[in-house]
Amino acid sequence: MRRSDTDAVESTFDAPTHTKTARRRFLRLLGAGSAISVAGCSSITGKASKAQVNYRNRPKGDQRCSNCRFYDPPENGDGAGTCSRVEGEIAPDAWCNVYSKG
Ligand code: SF4
Repeated sequence: MRRSDTDAVESTFDAPTHTKTARRRFLRLLGAGSAISVAGCSSITGKASKAQVNYRNRPKGDQRCSNCRFYDPPENGDGAGTCSRVEGEIAPDAWCNVYSKG
């Protein structure tokens, strides 16, 4: 290896301290984000399980899946729909603690 090649390789690994700190902080945040997503969502669907969001088959006052922003009603307008946040079939009169008025 020529001297200039060696210098180039060494300079690659000789990053400024603030770059190393930023890289370390980024990797730490990445690790924390992964842990949160594993704990809060199904690894297959990316949605939370019903148990994780305290899903129940009855509304909470005026709050119900059918008026939640995450609810997707069934095509035929009859029966259970789906939810973009919670996995499985979702009853229109159900509720969970991710509810958000739609
Ligand atoms: S987020 Fe919860 S309340 Fe809203 S539609 Fe999904 S299951 Fe129902």
